[in-house]
Amino acid sequence: MACRCGAAGPAAPCRPISQYVLKVHSRCDLSCDHCYVYQEADQTWRDKPVRMAASTVRAAAARIAEHARAHDLPAVHVVLHGGEPLLLGPAGLREVLAELRAALTPGVVLDLRMQTNGVLLDEELCRLLVAYEVKIGVSLDGDRAANDRHRIFAHGGSSHAHARRALALLRRPEFRGSYAGILCTIDLRNDPDQVYSALLAEAPPRIDLLLPHATWDRPPRRPPGVATPYADWLGRIHRRWVDDGRPVPIRLFEALTSGAGGGTEAVGLAPADLLVVETDGSWEQVDSLKVAFHGAAGTDLDVFAHPVDEAARHPGVAIRQEGLAGLCATCRACPVVSRCGGGLYPHRWRTGTGFDNPSVYCADLQALIATVDSAPGPDRAGTPRPGDAPAPAGAGGRGPRSPGIPVPRSAESVGDRAVDPAADRLLAEIVGGHGGPWALDVLAQTQLSITRVLLETWRDITGGSAAWELLAELDATAGDAVGAVLAHPFVRPWLVRQLARRGTPDVDLVPALAVVAAVRAGVEAVVEVPVRGGALVLPALGRLTVGDERAGEVRTAPGGLYIRVGSVSRTVPLDGASTTPTGWQPVRRPPIADAMISIEDVDPERDCYGQPVAPTLDDDAADALGDTLALARLAVHRDVPAHGVALDAGLRAVVPLAPDPLAPWRSATARQAFGAIAVAEMSDADAMAVLLVHEWQHGKLGALMDLYDLVDPASSVRIPVAWRPDPRPVEGALQGAYAHLAVTEVWHARATADRPDAQVARGHLVRYRDWTREAVEALLGAGTLTDLGERFVGRMGHVLEELRADQG
Ligand code: SF4
Ligand code: SF4
Repeated sequence: MACRCGAAGPAAPCRPISQYVLKVHSRCDLSCDHCYVYQEADQTWRDKPVRMAASTVRAAAARIAEHARAHDLPAVHVVLHGGEPLLLGPAGLREVLAELRAALTPGVVLDLRMQTNGVLLDEELCRLLVAYEVKIGVSLDGDRAANDRHRIFAHGGSSHAHARRALALLRRPEFRGSYAGILCTIDLRNDPDQVYSALLAEAPPRIDLLLPHATWDRPPRRPPGVATPYADWLGRIHRRWVDDGRPVPIRLFEALTSGAGGGTEAVGLAPADLLVVETDGSWEQVDSLKVAFHGAAGTDLDVFAHPVDEAARHPGVAIRQEGLAGLCATCRACPVVSRCGGGLYPHRWRTGTGFDNPSVYCADLQALIATVDSAPGPDRAGTPRPGDAPAPAGAGGRGPRSPGIPVPRSAESVGDRAVDPAADRLLAEIVGGHGGPWALDVLAQTQLSITRVLLETWRDITGGSAAWELLAELDATAGDAVGAVLAHPFVRPWLVRQLARRGTPDVDLVPALAVVAAVRAGVEAVVEVPVRGGALVLPALGRLTVGDERAGEVRTAPGGLYIRVGSVSRTVPLDGASTTPTGWQPVRRPPIADAMISIEDVDPERDCYGQPVAPTLDDDAADALGDTLALARLAVHRDVPAHGVALDAGLRAVVPLAPDPLAPWRSATARQAFGAIAVAEMSDADAMAVLLVHEWQHGKLGALMDLYDLVDPASSVRIPVAWRPDPRPVEGALQGAYAHLAVTEVWHARATADRPDAQVARGHLVRYRDWTREAVEALLGAGTLTDLGERFVGRMGHVLEELRADQG
């Protein structure tokens, strides 16, 4: 049967194909109204032969065998599908199985599967399937009421008892080895607890929960006013499942679990590795594409005239081999893309933009990932991680994509992928060149995209407002202004904090963002802005202290703002030259030539560093810090000009940390606050220069890791590092090594310069160089870096070598 068996995935011209779906019978004995084969846009089944002829099976098997030999594949996976494959009957089925085994097994391991509605499964067929070592998946949507909602005969009769009888057969000891699992399509009208219980009662080795097929043209059923009904529905099952101790693998949950190494056709970035053979021998793409449009899955190629390689080069197949690069811009920048992967390919379809869209289930997928992340126990992945690094194009294949179909080891390995040239260039610039304007712009744009996605989620949760409408209007007419506002380093920390509160927001920053965007765009607007902590804060502009009020009205006008809060009215000039009104604290912009660095001591969201930030500075302290920063920037340009360029290209804000006499040299970076670092106030510009370089390395690397996996996310390995007593997770060791590499460069410059403290600098140089070298060696030996990670760390080693050579 064609059902919803997830047996679909992409292929690429340069990648061997190891998974095949053979549509051996194109008709079905059921008449399910959610069937993508018969009930959706693609009606090509009407022109296909009812059953696959023996000659077609032979030709398909020969093509698969030829391809396996040419690519030296150790195993291939073939799923018998339909329609309903059992309609072939015992004799027809035996013929197909015999052809496949004869053609394939001499040279390759053949993993045979079947997806069936179970209606016709009997003892004779079970014996046959067991004899040919076929694993059987059965479709069942839950209890009788749930199953009967869709899975019925043409005459309207229930198929529930038939499916249950088939499952009972498969549970018998002599057939149990062929029981692959249950495939269940979700319907929100079914009670998730009852569905879960009904599925569990069948003792399946595995459960697949599938979202109903939908596209942007034909969105899924959603109750009014519920933002993420599918995530809510699945979340209830997930809670039960976790509470029950995860009694059976549920593929969707496992695949969405951060670091679990999962990935399916429906989620994840694994390049697809599958072709479909129709009953007439035509090669087709993933057959759930039939929901998109008539003929969507077609390739105009067939097994008689075209080898697998040629079918794999079909553009519709090839694009799905591209991993991250094959996704739309929104997905590419999405913080959970490594787990979501843009959802099931057909679910991205929209007339006009084709598949270049996020999934129509985007909000549900994000919410479900948050649910999975928040679960306790073995699959706990921590709090929602908007910085969760997406895998690079072509990387991240970590699991099966068809139900129960194992993926060959080559697709699971870390570090066995070809490297995307764009990624390689970015890595080279970030390591070797320290990040010039191009590289910093790539990182900044990525961060901005992440913020935009989070903001969309926030809107889904909170709903629209006048401020939203203004922001959206400005985005359409003055996108650069809105982009600049959203790039403020503390917008994303605010969003992350709010989204972690799961629907109980405590601060709405959108009105303030709309005001600042209107100012930047030169648009006159009136916005009601919430007051928090006795102040009305406008990110990147300043703060008006207003006392115990709930909200104020801000009117933007040419050259300034008019703010009215309760009985307080203030006109705030924004020309920088006029007198500052009472209670208004503008964001400080120290005069630092060629750099755009502000001192952020008013934005409440700056408190995101895990250590106390300083209260708002007085003017003298702020001036002193500004002077130190200006001199420190010059020192960086003097010591390592490339690091100076990288600072100028991306560092936008410095947050003063609260003084601590026991640790006067303190600094910090927050992964969510790209463009900002935090430092303790100090007057030593050379010392500040070291901190700036050190922290900006963390900022750049964090942003790079939002874009690419450099470390296998499933790794729990810890490695010893010289700068801390305790072994560090590999990502932490990488962050430390990369920061120390820059510090090494600074001390190298000072040690080799004609300056009085060169001897002292040499001592620091040796220490940081040795720390970094040892860490580089440990990282390369840890076996947990991705291919890109190895390249990155390898390049760090080259930089160290160059420094050594430079020293003579
Ligand atoms: S069992 Fe239902 S969903 Fe599966 S192929 Fe038949 S009609 Fe379609
Ligand atoms: S943007 Fe939506 S569909 Fe795309 S990867 Fe993120 S959650 Fe998935």
